[in-house]
Amino acid sequence: MKAGAPQQAAAQIIKELEEKGLKPVPLYGVERTVIAVIGEERDLSIGHLESLTGVEKVMRVVQPFKLVSIETKKEPTIVEINGIKIGSNQLAAIAGPCSVESEEQMEEVASQLAKTGIKIMRGGAYKPRTGPYAFQGLKEEGLEILRNVADRHKMAVVTEIVDIRDLDAIIKKTDMIQIGARNMQNFELLKEIGGSGKPVLLKRGLSATIEEFLLAAEYILVHGNPNVVLCERGIRTFEKETRNTLALATVPLVKELSHLPIIVDPSHATGKRSLIEPMTKAAIACGADGFIVEVHPNPGEALSDAQQQLTPDQFKTMMDNLIPIEKAVGKTL
Ligand code: PEP
Ligand code: MN
Repeated sequence: MKAGAPQQAAAQIIKELEEKGLKPVPLYGVERTVIAVIGEERDLSIGHLESLTGVEKVMRVVQPFKLVSIETKKEPTIVEINGIKIGSNQLAAIAGPCSVESEEQMEEVASQLAKTGIKIMRGGAYKPRTGPYAFQGLKEEGLEILRNVADRHKMAVVTEIVDIRDLDAIIKKTDMIQIGARNMQNFELLKEIGGSGKPVLLKRGLSATIEEFLLAAEYILVHGNPNVVLCERGIRTFEKETRNTLALATVPLVKELSHLPIIVDPSHATGKRSLIEPMTKAAIACGADGFIVEVHPNPGEALSDAQQQLTPDQFKTMMDNLIPIEKAVGKTL
């Protein structure tokens, strides 16, 4: 309550809260009264409370997300894909091109990634591109290629969904569905994916707060799907030297707030080949459960994101260089 607000105003609010079935606990100080409220948050409107006479401020004590919250479930969630337990002390290394471009391209990259021990491959068949003239992906043909090539190399695949109408085709052909940054708040998509039960890679929106990010995950969980892996992929800032700004504090912070695993995408976060290795090291060092990196057999000719894709050789070198960091944090690949 405002300093010096009449007792009558507090009494009125207490009465209203009780009528709503909530439990008000008033604390009467010398200058002001504070009213703590216990009960279901959905039974009250913060906006309405703020409009009442004598109220200075209404503060939420509990988080708006529940199922994803560490308060609800203390032990970490583990999402298992092709024998990789994402969220355990086994790091998930996901690699592959930005887009599926052809059978030859996928075969070449997959055979090299398999040699590096990669068990989960990425590749976009449906691409959310900024402009309508850019390569939009091979769509169903791309899914087909992705599945066939991955099967040949005993790999699982993750691919992005951009339109709910493609859900059935994607479910049939893939092992994990990516919801990209641009669709993080496509709530209808989140609900449908929640109903699907398929593991989900949920990327942080370009300008989403961590609370919004976790609430997007909450949509998937509340619709019945607990298999969500979060992905920090950088946010929009004023900086132009990097494609986005990699907000690595998200990783330990999400670990404080949620039981869900979180991986890092240094490729989209930086947009710059030379920064992938250092930022992957940093991601592992700060507690990420894995990483997703773009690898293309011939990055210079990639149909999307050419500047940020590594060659398979560069990727292999990076994987070797990550070993001391993995050891330092007690994780293995
Ligand atoms: C991608 O992974 O290819 C992609 C488009 O990522 P983001 O949604 O993070 O931009
Ligand atoms: Mn990309």
